[in-house]
Amino acid sequence: MVFAVATNNQKKLKEIQRILDSFGITAKTLRELNIETEIEENGTTFEENALIKAKTIAEICSLPTISDDSGLEVDALGGAPGVYTARFAGEHATDDENIDKLLAEMEGVEQEKRTARFVSAVCLCMPDGTNTVCRGTCEGWIGYERIGDGGFGYDPVFMVGDISYSQMSPEAKDAISHRGSALRQLKEKIGDFI
Ligand code: IMP
Repeated sequence: MVFAVATNNQKKLKEIQRILDSFGITAKTLRELNIETEIEENGTTFEENALIKAKTIAEICSLPTISDDSGLEVDALGGAPGVYTARFAGEHATDDENIDKLLAEMEGVEQEKRTARFVSAVCLCMPDGTNTVCRGTCEGWIGYERIGDGGFGYDPVFMVGDISYSQMSPEAKDAISHRGSALRQLKEKIGDFI
């Protein structure tokens, strides 16, 4: 069985494919399905944006579609960047630009006040519109500088205990990450849809 995954982010796709494997489901990216569409993520929550993405793609390709909308909530910044995490430093900001802005805004903030969490909303939407959304979170804090060279996005500055997401093996990150948690919850529900 083939599912669409509403992303072109290969790292996200890999994490999602690992869960779908156990159902004998093959995940296809938008590129593989020849879908070129700009989806306006104008929801105010991760859940709304995940549903917007999955529903839009399920309608276009008539396949069950999985999406992930994720982001960082930093307590010292009043929960920002939240749903704006990908565009924190501007509409087409790179990971490096986003991290630079975050580190600049956190300058002078003491250790105890650097708490943050990563949030992932994962949505499965069927071609008829029926859907489910699961939320996973991972508590951590914002480091003072980049540490480690693995992973993607904000991984080098998102600390859990005394190591960054970047320093974790893929398996170790899956076991505690926001996306791992959301996908494990989705795994419990996926049988009801297929
Ligand atoms: P989205 O693609 O709109 O969900 O954007 C998510 C934003 O959060 C992007 O800037 C990603 O790089 C970042 N992000 C999401 N998940 C992770 C993660 O597991 N590690 C680091 N950054 C992440």
